[in-house]
Amino acid sequence: MKRLLQLLALAVLILLAVLLYHTLTLPQADSRVAELPDLPQAMDEDAMVGRLAAALRFPTLPDQPDAFVGFHDFLRDSFPLTHQTLSLKAFGHSLLYHWDSKNDCPPQLLLAHQDVVPVSSPEKWQKPPFAGVVDDDFVWGRGALDDKGSLMAILEATEALLQSGQAPACDVYLAFGHDEEIGGREGAVKMAAWLEQQNLRFALILDEGGMMLPGSTLGMDRPVALMGIAEKGYMTVELQAEAEPGHSSRPPERTAIGDLAAAIHHLQTHPRPASLSLPTRKMLEQVAPHQSFAKRLVFANLWLFEPLIIRQLEGKPETNALLRTTMAPTLLEAGVKENVLPATANATLNFRLAPGETRDSLRAYLQNELPDNISVTSKGAFLSDPSAVTDIPSASFDRLAALARALPEQPVVAPYLLIAGTDARHYQHLSDQVFRFMPVSLGQDDLARFHGHNERLPRKQYPHMVRFYAGLMLGQ
Ligand SMILES: [Zn+2]
Repeated sequence: MKRLLQLLALAVLILLAVLLYHTLTLPQADSRVAELPDLPQAMDEDAMVGRLAAALRFPTLPDQPDAFVGFHDFLRDSFPLTHQTLSLKAFGHSLLYHWDSKNDCPPQLLLAHQDVVPVSSPEKWQKPPFAGVVDDDFVWGRGALDDKGSLMAILEATEALLQSGQAPACDVYLAFGHDEEIGGREGAVKMAAWLEQQNLRFALILDEGGMMLPGSTLGMDRPVALMGIAEKGYMTVELQAEAEPGHSSRPPERTAIGDLAAAIHHLQTHPRPASLSLPTRKMLEQVAPHQSFAKRLVFANLWLFEPLIIRQLEGKPETNALLRTTMAPTLLEAGVKENVLPATANATLNFRLAPGETRDSLRAYLQNELPDNISVTSKGAFLSDPSAVTDIPSASFDRLAALARALPEQPVVAPYLLIAGTDARHYQHLSDQVFRFMPVSLGQDDLARFHGHNERLPRKQYPHMVRFYAGLMLGQ
């Protein structure tokens, strides 16, 4: 007995030593800070903010071609040096700019999209969604965050560098799609194909997707700059249950609606397995040095604590989505009359595929879990496997991180998995360094403004966004 206790004590000691060793040998946090270039005196900040507001007045929706034409004229008028110096190629309403640096080094590609999502309830907005209103604190309007804020800041940065006689370190391409919100087939896909035909490989591709959020999101005092290094895949399927139609006065044991409801319930209670995928692991690794000792010990020993962390992250929808392929039932259709049993019942399920999942593995799961009387068909034009995961650490990541740290918020930089989709996925074969980040700092509540009501960009941050993109183009 005594010997057993001794052995046990020894095992505990060894375990503690291993945990401590991993905690104390965690790599030091990278803390390099770049210098953001100053903007030329002639570039008045109010005028820049005014141009962003003006950009928001063009309702660049898929069914409004005139708005795109007007927007393009506006860009030409607003950024004269850019349009004199850079070459411009149009793909429908999409715009691809090329800034020749005359240097022979790998180019970078900055992405943003011109199109916006429609406004469902304009009466719920504090300012009209397409009025481009500027007040003391914000620039208001549909597209301020998603994604004309980035688009305009990138062009302001280009114009600013040209005004001050500066050129980029290596060639810069700017690709501004016009149909990101509906899949990017006519914009991003075609521009990416053209870039591929030119045999271009990019040192870095940057799109929207990540941003700065309060550090409390990850248990820190300082804000965190979330740099997307991967995005989830997307697939929608329709389930259909069939049954004998008939009179509701003598219902059979099984009905189409009952079978369909059972199928949805089964999938909801048998979700795809949760795990810490590579981007989420890397996120925890990067924030670990900034945590309390107890948390550092947990994050440094994922080999032991992974189940514990998963259980915690599963508790909230936004962190659960980082762990697994999620399913959301979004449409339901069955029946024609209150006293008639329908012959069919249909449900639409929207899946977001975690890294490691594929559309094929998801189909196999559905086939496995669902009974034979439920048919499954793919639906919609949006279909994508999860993106590749950008390999970090890397020179490009370090450069972006150093620029982000130079922003006034002085954030801790962490890679992460984007749970939504961006145009970046269409360009991923052109670089192994694809990132999703917009240099803007938001509150947790602001996330609902993307595609929601009262979209707005904090006006004081805008000049710093411009400086961030200018620094990136200069190769800092
Ligand atoms: Zn967007």
